[in-house]
Amino acid sequence: MTDKKMLVSKIDNGTVIDKIGAGMSLTILRVLNIREDYSDTVAVAIMVSSESMGKKDIVKLTHRDLSEDELKAIWLIAPDAVVSVIDNYKVSEKFKIAGKITSNQFSGVLKCENPSCATNFNEPVKPRYTLMRRDPMLVRCLYCDRVMLEENIKEQL
Ligand SMILES: [Zn+2]
Repeated sequence: MTDKKMLVSKIDNGTVIDKIGAGMSLTILRVLNIREDYSDTVAVAIMVSSESMGKKDIVKLTHRDLSEDELKAIWLIAPDAVVSVIDNYKVSEKFKIAGKITSNQFSGVLKCENPSCATNFNEPVKPRYTLMRRDPMLVRCLYCDRVMLEENIKEQL
């Protein structure tokens, strides 16, 4: 059995996120709000050898689905990510997140850079953005129109 095979050993139900850029898996756990109090099994493989990517990360979440917003958040961090949905030990669905993105708007993930933006006060306003360009990334806040550049976005991820 190869190392790779052992790292992706089977889970009964849940989600596998593969082809994450090397070292970015912990950022993905953070945006998925998976912290020390999380109650299900999470397996994280960092710096796995990959033919197409050199090195990559893999995250396996048992008993956890991903919402559309979460998929988008992952895609911002890991543009090449491939998701497998595991149902009763079998892959019931496998897709590249990039192929599922139908809207260029997303919420959460980033904090608006504008200190006087409504999303930075204690109002019940979840930050929402328009992705203006993917590479290099350019994002505009839907509340205050502040445009954020990739170099600043990367500092938040
Ligand atoms: Zn804003």
